Amino acid sequence: MGGTFDPIHNGHLVAASEVAAALNLDEVLFVPTGQPWQKDGVTPTSDRYLMTEIATAANPRFKVSTIDIDRSGPTYTVDTLRDLKAAYPDAELFFITGADAVTAIAGWKDSEELWGLAQFVAVTRPGHQLDLPAAPEGAIQVLEIPALAISSTDIRERVSEGKPIWYLVPDGIVQFIAKHGLYGGVK
Ligand code: NAP
Repeated sequence: MGGTFDPIHNGHLVAASEVAAALNLDEVLFVPTGQPWQKDGVTPTSDRYLMTEIATAANPRFKVSTIDIDRSGPTYTVDTLRDLKAAYPDAELFFITGADAVTAIAGWKDSEELWGLAQFVAVTRPGHQLDLPAAPEGAIQVLEIPALAISSTDIRERVSEGKPIWYLVPDGIVQFIAKHGLYGGVK
């Protein structure tokens, strides 16, 4: 499961759990982006990584990978999947991420190679209109996840406005954000 996770929230966790159940996955590897492609002002990778570890710690089927953080330069999914294929040569890989990201795949680096590396799972909220990119038959599955009404953008805004984020993110993430004064919140 790839994402900026700035911050990780309960929508991501429910999505991972639902996809794992629907596709009978052995585990979900959360892969926080290193330097996200074409994005400025993202929270330092160390904070996003730690929040991802904290949020997933209680679930034995959830793991976190630093594969995108450890690679220098911008994060491209083709590199993520090549590295994961090398690390898990016998695994069947599914790349789970937000549907809005998947709609832009045609513009990603080496996009034609992506279809051979993993199956893509686009998670979206119900009723959200999607323009899926041209892809080989069955290469992209779409799963509606009601909990994805929660968004990282909304959480960042709520923190900066002093509004509560309890129950939108795990308790440990509320505390981590407050302790480190992330998103313009009061320490
Ligand atoms: P984004 O543009 O920040 O997010 C697009 C939408 O998808 C947002 O609504 C976001 O909601 C949601 N989303 C993102 N990750 C999600 C996840 N794991 N589960 C559920 N919803 C998710 O997307 P991003 O975080 O930068 O990128 C997502 C993934 O695509 C990353 O692994 C990234 O490396 C990859 N990507 C690759 C390329 C490339 O290879 N050129 C380009 C773009 C993205 P939230 O903000 O609430 O998460």
